[in-house]
Amino acid sequence: MSGSFGRKLSYTGIGDLVLTGRAATPQILVIKQTDAGPSLSLMDAPEEMIGTRVRNRMDYLNNHFNDPASKNYPAHFAVIGPAGEQWETVWYACIVGTTQEQLMIGEDKWRFGGRLGMGSVLGSKNVVGIVALAEKDYYRKGDARLKAINNEIGRGDQTRGYRHPNNRDGLGGTGKNSQFLDSFGVLPVKNFAPPGENVAVPVHLETMRDSDEFIVLDKNCFGCQISCHQDFYDVPPEGKDPDRRQARKNHGPYLGRYEFEPMELSGPNLGILDPHANLELARLDDDLGFDTISVNVVLSFLMDYNGKGHGSVGDGITFGDFEKAKKIKEDIAYGRETLFGKGVRAIADEIGGEESAMHSKGVEFSAYLGQTNPGYPFAIAGGHMSMRTLLLYVMDPGCKPESADYWVHNITNEGWKMITKDLHGGCLFAMTPPDQVSEGIESIFGIPFSNEQVLNATFRAHVLGFALEQKQGITAEEYDMPADIFVGQPKGDLPGVHFLTRDLFEEIRERVLERLHEDAGKLGYGQYIGA
Ligand code: SF4
Repeated sequence: MSGSFGRKLSYTGIGDLVLTGRAATPQILVIKQTDAGPSLSLMDAPEEMIGTRVRNRMDYLNNHFNDPASKNYPAHFAVIGPAGEQWETVWYACIVGTTQEQLMIGEDKWRFGGRLGMGSVLGSKNVVGIVALAEKDYYRKGDARLKAINNEIGRGDQTRGYRHPNNRDGLGGTGKNSQFLDSFGVLPVKNFAPPGENVAVPVHLETMRDSDEFIVLDKNCFGCQISCHQDFYDVPPEGKDPDRRQARKNHGPYLGRYEFEPMELSGPNLGILDPHANLELARLDDDLGFDTISVNVVLSFLMDYNGKGHGSVGDGITFGDFEKAKKIKEDIAYGRETLFGKGVRAIADEIGGEESAMHSKGVEFSAYLGQTNPGYPFAIAGGHMSMRTLLLYVMDPGCKPESADYWVHNITNEGWKMITKDLHGGCLFAMTPPDQVSEGIESIFGIPFSNEQVLNATFRAHVLGFALEQKQGITAEEYDMPADIFVGQPKGDLPGVHFLTRDLFEEIRERVLERLHEDAGKLGYGQYIGA
């Protein structure tokens, strides 16, 4: 999780935190830095922290543990929202972490531990928030190499795509993906079925940046030179100043942040192309404490289900219905709707329609078409966070989409390398290659470290993830994709993509699973895979 909670937790002296059991009543876990090491205590959660929106919780904690009037912010926070409190019926709640800017100006600019229901797990402990309070910040300066590494990360080519356009020739941050994928006809639209190219222009980042209806401020997490955030504000009553620098100083209220996954999945993939509605729906996910990917893929599934005439669920919601989308999100987060919070696999098990339930292993697809990414089922923590095969179809000039060899190679030899970020804890967008990671570790800790050690640890994490799935009893057939996306099926022959046949996928699956079994055996996980 980017933002500042992680660094503050580290300054308290805590490296890992394992919570066992469940508190009898809602609690806040307070971790303080002391001269004698970290001090941990629980405090009863006050009414401001129960059943309230994330922004109310953050306001309470900021006023209680920091001193905003003196601009003194020794504490940062990680909280769940109302969705996490309903952990028994919401399985995809997230954990929300603070940023320095958010504490200083009060706008909801958080970072997230989003995927796989981490907020539901914290909610099941009856812990509604964690406070990391450290008066002294111990910045690790490292030796002379660290500055060069940081400059390369912040200013070099590796992060150019994530930098905003006014930051050293940046390409636009994650939001650039909307226009890019739309230009190839592979932007998820109406439950992952784009009808052609350039069908979502009104909600492209570039369109909205240029619009007179918004003023965009480019921002960053504390100290980050990549500076990927693009925050949207209303225009003041007198209109938008044509001079960008003047416009930055004179804007109306904050409307939301443009990041690709939340905006895409709560916009075009729901058939919503109104920029204001799109921003509002994406922002609502954060305030309720949802994994924005999962909750919006649930909505697109329900809309698709009703549209196909399978039935009438979710008050008959159909594509483009902003008001009903908002209401369903609220109903899920507050426990009034008890099925839709369990994700598309559980919903389809109950009401049918599994052929268009966009998930692998129960984890909803991120904002990249399954039709372009047979690597989805082999990700261990969500398809865009732990298996980098998601953009090969449009970005790899050497892509051979109809070749099983091509996909097996990329899934088994390349895609898992992105898990490195989860081992060192840096932001995904830093795109740090193994040599920067090993050199950075050497520079900071003075411990000899090599690229090979970084890659070996990453590979081991990937294979261990697979082995643990086996231990839980997963079957080969569960490494699957929804039937509708294969060639010859309703979403399988799109104008922008139609290569993934069922036969091709099954060949890829058989070969990848064979290799993973071999690797798990070699790495000593035989007891998990029945070897
Ligand atoms: S790239 Fe920088 S500004 Fe963007 S999320 Fe990561 S740490 Fe924050």
